[in-house]
Amino acid sequence: MTIKEAQEAVDHWIKQYGVRYFSELTNMACLTEEVGELARVIARTYGEQSFKAGEKPNLGEEMADVLWVLICLANQTGIDLTEELQKSFDKKTGRDKERHKNNPKLS
Ligand SMILES: [Mg+2]
Repeated sequence: MTIKEAQEAVDHWIKQYGVRYFSELTNMACLTEEVGELARVIARTYGEQSFKAGEKPNLGEEMADVLWVLICLANQTGIDLTEELQKSFDKKTGRDKERHKNNPKLS
C-alpha cells in the first residue's frame, strides 16, 4: 500500500463506517493518546518498565494507531503526505547529509 493509497483507504473507511472525521482538535487529542500508548509499549519493551501479567507487547499495532490518526488529520486538512514526505527527504538531505556522518557519537 502506498501512502496515497493509505490516505484514500482511511478516507473510504471514515465515510463508510465512521460517519465523519472527528474534529481536528479531537483527532489531535487522539493522536497524543495513541503516541502515549506507543510510548507505554516502548517503555516496557526497551525501558525499565514491565508489562502487567498477561499483557502482550503490541508495538506494531500502536504504531499503526498513530499512523491512522495522523492520516486522518492529513486527510481532513488537505495534506498530501506523499508530497510532504518527499519534501522532508529533500530538506533532510540538503541540510543533514554530512551532519550525521560527522557525529562521533554515531560511530
Ligand atoms: Mg492504540
